[in-house]
Amino acid sequence: MLDRPHPTPAAPSADPFALAKALSGVHFIGGVYVPARSGRTFAVVNPATGAEVARAAEGDAADVEAAVQNAAKAQKDWAKVPARKRGAMVHQCAQLLKEHVDELGRLIALETGKALRTESRVEAGVVADVFEFFGGLGSELKGESVPFDPKVLSVTVREPLGVVGAIIPWNVPMLLMALKVAPALVAGNSVVVKSAEEAPLAVLRICEIMNRILPPGVFNMVSGFGPECGAPLVTHPLVRKVTFTGSVETGKIVARAAAEKLIPVTLELGGKSPMIVFADCDFDRTVAGALTSMRFTRQGQSCTAASRIYVERPIFDRFVAAMTDAVNGMVMGDPLDEKTDIGTIVSEGQLAKVKAYIAEGTATPGATAHVCSAMPTDPALRKGLFIQPVIFTGLTRDSRLVREEIFGPVTVIQPFDDAEAVLAEANDSDYGLAASLWTNNLKVGLDLAHRLEAGLVQINQNLVVQANLSYGGVKSSGLGKEASLEAMLEHFTHKKTIMVNMA
Ligand code: ADP
Ligand code: MG
Repeated sequence: MLDRPHPTPAAPSADPFALAKALSGVHFIGGVYVPARSGRTFAVVNPATGAEVARAAEGDAADVEAAVQNAAKAQKDWAKVPARKRGAMVHQCAQLLKEHVDELGRLIALETGKALRTESRVEAGVVADVFEFFGGLGSELKGESVPFDPKVLSVTVREPLGVVGAIIPWNVPMLLMALKVAPALVAGNSVVVKSAEEAPLAVLRICEIMNRILPPGVFNMVSGFGPECGAPLVTHPLVRKVTFTGSVETGKIVARAAAEKLIPVTLELGGKSPMIVFADCDFDRTVAGALTSMRFTRQGQSCTAASRIYVERPIFDRFVAAMTDAVNGMVMGDPLDEKTDIGTIVSEGQLAKVKAYIAEGTATPGATAHVCSAMPTDPALRKGLFIQPVIFTGLTRDSRLVREEIFGPVTVIQPFDDAEAVLAEANDSDYGLAASLWTNNLKVGLDLAHRLEAGLVQINQNLVVQANLSYGGVKSSGLGKEASLEAMLEHFTHKKTIMVNMA
């Protein structure tokens, strides 16, 4: 059903540069690649070198209109496909995506600067897993029978919402897209995704791959900027649900626009996630856990990054030293090189923002910046958006670095003496996405886990989003959950009541 021959190969490509070029200048609408109606494109840049690797179609309201019309038309037939069959098709997509894991890893590494071995290939694998998981849930779209009156059969059925608009960011674009698209499709909706301007390519490739299996128009992808391309998607009258991942600021704009239409909206926003380390923890495991919690391999560009680390005073100095040593051992370099642990920041704007926070922290009286890991020396990476990870000590709760989401490889470690006091500090935040506790005293750990204001609390680990586990924040971190069966039922269907009078 795809308009072959077209520029992208069917077989997995080992050359992300060639694939990026082949994906240039197009959206994916109604089962085919199409250029922007305006003919406009924008640059996709490799942040490791500063070189332009592709041009993306610059979408606007006209492209959104085409995508939504196609989606609305396709959704009617898609909803009639038995739920289990829809799931089976999504499951088939997952199998195909597995063959493309390495390809997608390379492509996302090229456009985002995330290291292939530690991040990009891992993300591609999780994406296939998410589609596989939701693909198995078709027959879970169950309703209930309701005890109303013995002579009146009362049942509920789950129905799709219609066209879902999905807006995604650049930090883990493939995964965050999958968390929206997989449940939306299995539940019988069609989808229009608006990719992030910094990372439009890998998600476009996934859309094309899945369209080899899905009916045309069920899964569409447009690229472009937020106000020009994202906003018309939210306000389009045929879009019956919006799911958004991004900043708090933009999330509020999206929620306001959704409120005008009275449509449901799911928001996955920022975080300032605390990591609380007790002196009785397994020390080495916790130091290693701090590195993964802080997502240093993703340059800290994660909503769940442990950017506030509280360490019980008796082990504070030792912990700071061990963590600094461990981060120093991480290799910064070419994202596509298998040896690389840490790649680049995604864009110049983001780099400037992170640098401003570091400058502010460094200039704060009493603060110490532990600057870790060596900058790459390869002249080819001279213009790359690399930045050394920084661990701050001596900053207090009034610092912007402790309160605001930095979205860079910057964390603040503070000592604590008392569990109640550290709990109060951890909860003293506008955000409430994730938290982790590191202790061998489960009584203390579980007590705090119950009282931490966060959507996800982990004890002695800090994994990224996993299929089957509900994910989503409280407070300014968002509305609604993703990644689980309940998320699919609650956020991508509505319950209809049907009553039959048998008297
Ligand atoms: P960032 O600061 O990292 O760009 P944003 O929240 O601005 O985070 O972006 C997340 C996604 O939201 C991107 O795909 C972006 O294009 C989109 N976006 C930005 N502004 C709007 C808007 N006004 N309406 C809809 N989508 C938007
Ligand atoms: Mg933005």
